[in-house]
Amino acid sequence: MTAAPSLASRAMANDIGDAHWLPFTAMRQFRSNPMMFLAAEGMHYTSADGRRILDGMAGLWCVNAGHGQPRIVEAIREAAGRLDFVSSFKMTHPATFELAGRLAGIAPEGFGRVFFTNSGSEAVDSALKIARGYHRARGDAGRTKFIGRAKGYHGMGFGGLSVGGIGRHKRDFGPLLPDVAHLSLPYDRASMGFSRGQPDAGAHYADELESLLQINDPATVAAVIVEPVIGSGGVYPPPKEYLERLRSICSRHGILLIFDEVITGFGRLGTAFAAQALRVTPDLITCAKGMTNGAVPMGGVLIRDFIFDAFMAGPPEAIELFHGYTYSGHPLACAAGLAALDVYEELRLFERTAVIATTWQEALHSLRDEPHIADIRNIGLLGVVELAARKGEPGARGASCAQSCYDNGVLVRASGDLIVLSPPLIIDEEQIAQIVDSIRSAVRQMN
Ligand code: PMP
Repeated sequence: MTAAPSLASRAMANDIGDAHWLPFTAMRQFRSNPMMFLAAEGMHYTSADGRRILDGMAGLWCVNAGHGQPRIVEAIREAAGRLDFVSSFKMTHPATFELAGRLAGIAPEGFGRVFFTNSGSEAVDSALKIARGYHRARGDAGRTKFIGRAKGYHGMGFGGLSVGGIGRHKRDFGPLLPDVAHLSLPYDRASMGFSRGQPDAGAHYADELESLLQINDPATVAAVIVEPVIGSGGVYPPPKEYLERLRSICSRHGILLIFDEVITGFGRLGTAFAAQALRVTPDLITCAKGMTNGAVPMGGVLIRDFIFDAFMAGPPEAIELFHGYTYSGHPLACAAGLAALDVYEELRLFERTAVIATTWQEALHSLRDEPHIADIRNIGLLGVVELAARKGEPGARGASCAQSCYDNGVLVRASGDLIVLSPPLIIDEEQIAQIVDSIRSAVRQMN
């Protein structure tokens, strides 16, 4: 009897069926050139064809401490064998409170409550609902509108999609939430291109919020939601003083400010949350991804005490939040979350990120005079290299650059003609050079 072929050989032979419809993937293209991974450790994936691939994306902006962290793996194993599931509706298990307490401990001052979800999308929709519920609990039920921003990515729920600002994501799925307005992208290449970190110019873009409020009646707006650093929309760090101005306009009008920190949470900017690195305190913080180092799906909303207190002091029906998910606070996710926080602390990973971010910045900007480079942006261990689009073929240079990097053993993410970078925070200087050199050699070969 012959042994069954291994998954690796079946993957190589393209013999794994065709039942899986992949998210955000052109299926025909995928079938002709499938990218498949079988294992991962530290900074590297092992591809189905047996190559070691340097992970320039921390999976999908989530594996902050690198892959296969033994302590996290062990914690998940242990939890799975002990308590497979318990609901968090009207009951729970101790690790939910322990993790919530640890998260409150690393959050900015005053975020004393945590609501658990299973993803960033759910965290965003939860935050939007909590914002409306907060106003209602205070007898201000007329505050229902939201303001998002161009290029914002807030997940795939109808709430997140509505406040999001990437047109292609919304086009086929309307109608979306009514009464949502959007700020414009606080970016202008002429004055802000090739900035290192936060651009010096551009704070004035925040003043647009005041104009939007005058059109939309500020007393009807529940919340403004922004990513402190626009991530999936193209890695745009906020101009200096921009978030501060948004904050003060929101406060002046009694509007809640939500920071979507699904990407920036858990160290990407050298502090637990971007709110701390950027020194602006929102009212709600959404997070996910790095919460468990990507090992188990989990997200959450960090909530300032005054919001929770308003629910508790509100009418009796406000005391119970009529919202939640079967897997909110899942035992495996909590175990992974607690272990991830241990690992982050033990490695002093956030502090380390703040230091190595300078090397990262210099390395990325060394690409400036290479061919086809239109812009470079960076902050913390985030970066984007924007390629000039080839005439009549938008996205072709991005795809070709990512493919060439992959052929050279480096995984980067092409989004149109943007090469998006978000490596695990354990990256070293040599690996930074490897990522940047693979982009350099790709663009030099490109027409
Ligand atoms: N918000 C932001 C800022 C994100 O980057 C993402 C995912 N990239 C989400 C929300 C949605 O998270 P998820 O894919 O876990 O639903």
